[in-house]
Amino acid sequence: MLGIFSLWTYRNTTKTTRMPKETMKDQRLLPLYNKSGLPETPQQIPKKPGDTPQQTHPRRVYIETYGCQMNVSDSELMAGILTQSGHQTVTHIDDADVVLVNTCAIRENAETKVINRLQHLNHRKRRQPELIIGVCGCMAQHLRDRLLEAAPYVDLVMGPDAYRNLPIALDSLIRDEEAHISLKDRDPFLGLRLDKTEDYADIAPIRKDGIRAWLTIQRGCDKMCTFCIVPFVRGRERSIPLKLLVEDVQKLVDQGFKEVVLLGQTVNSYHDNGSDFGDLLFAVGEVNGLERVRFTSPHPADATDSMIEAMASSATVCKHLHLPLQSGSTTVLERMRRTYTAEEYRTLVAKLRERIPNIALSTDIIVGFCGETDEEFEQTYRMMADIRYDSAFMFKYSEREGTLAHKALPDDVPETVKGQRLKQIIELQEQIAADINTAAIGRTVTVLVEGESRRDADKYHGKTDSFKTTVFPKVDSKIGDVVNVCVDSTTAHTLIGQIIDG
Ligand code: SAM
Repeated sequence: MLGIFSLWTYRNTTKTTRMPKETMKDQRLLPLYNKSGLPETPQQIPKKPGDTPQQTHPRRVYIETYGCQMNVSDSELMAGILTQSGHQTVTHIDDADVVLVNTCAIRENAETKVINRLQHLNHRKRRQPELIIGVCGCMAQHLRDRLLEAAPYVDLVMGPDAYRNLPIALDSLIRDEEAHISLKDRDPFLGLRLDKTEDYADIAPIRKDGIRAWLTIQRGCDKMCTFCIVPFVRGRERSIPLKLLVEDVQKLVDQGFKEVVLLGQTVNSYHDNGSDFGDLLFAVGEVNGLERVRFTSPHPADATDSMIEAMASSATVCKHLHLPLQSGSTTVLERMRRTYTAEEYRTLVAKLRERIPNIALSTDIIVGFCGETDEEFEQTYRMMADIRYDSAFMFKYSEREGTLAHKALPDDVPETVKGQRLKQIIELQEQIAADINTAAIGRTVTVLVEGESRRDADKYHGKTDSFKTTVFPKVDSKIGDVVNVCVDSTTAHTLIGQIIDG
């Protein structure tokens, strides 16, 4: 059974002052409180959209998303839950009565950005006192009380497993507002219980129309890399049943989407009753009318033969793999608890390139992780130079409170050294990416047309199978078509060309 009783939320609407921080922490796991301050029976959070109570006072909700694609997908889920209960999502903040900031906690600067944004929203709230401000997502889960100290005007703090409670939370806040309980006398609505059974499999997200749809196939993470906050803010790994996912993909195709991106924190550790990620890729690849399927982010340790086989043999599965390396040094990888060595990673890349000769590879790299020596950094640099990724996301290590590294490993690489190392690999990667692009000149690439070019209304842009942005004149094509483009020039990150006959 899904954990409908486990996701309790604290709210006490009768208090005239904010609760002391410690009391709030203790009460957070208690059942919902009623108006007289007495605990009600545990709140039953509706598990099916049809069961969601309809709002008598619908609100217009603006959702602002920070961070990874998983957060974008969660925002779509939140929009689904809210719409189902009678609220309306709006695309402009000026039209909103409620602003939900869906946050990221992966690096410190992501959190700083959100705090700055909340300060800005507080100015808006001064002009529009009835405005409800909610902080959702990973940072809500990570910072909890500190967030409320930094932004005491926030009305709602909700972690990634509590979104079913959004209608209940808004209802409660609206009742406060209607009872004219002043801002300073209200306690925020907290929904921070992680629920290892929550997969939102029954919720229909509200997506923007387009060509590409993001589909969460798995939530949480069991890997426990020492640098990473994800398992602490998103909880344990859980997969959505394969049959439901295939049905979802068919629905997406019926709605007009041409490409589906399967999402998970370690997407390829997906499993369902004996089926693994390779089986899922094959099954999704067979869905009638689907042009392309991609996925992100896989973990190298879970790159099984079945996954590689599905990538190699299904025409629908794109030949692009984002394969986070993090470090090219085995000793750093050990400290990161990545569960593979640099040599094993190289062997995996060789195997992928042998089986899928045109595969495009991208990666994530962290420099300056705890204790990283010059030699260990050099190993990362050499690895990137050898593998020659098509693209890379590169980061300075950012210590995250609560992670295993924060508890056990000193963050001892000076900021200036982290900065120099990052600069070095960015320069290397820019050169490699430019060379790979230049080598494409004169070749024909297959492009799924996504939309009008921002710079030139006579041109379209789209992505190749290998996820390279391509720009070309519109002639005889429309959005959603798959066209052949002969590349005649490139910029650092874009291919430019002309449509040619199949
Ligand atoms: N779950 C994915 C995995 O580990 O394969 C990655 C998820 S995370 C959103 C994306 C990237 O952020 C990671 O691959 C890593 O390179 C980077 N990252 C995560 N924690 C970090 C930290 N504490 N400091 C710097 N970069 C970090």
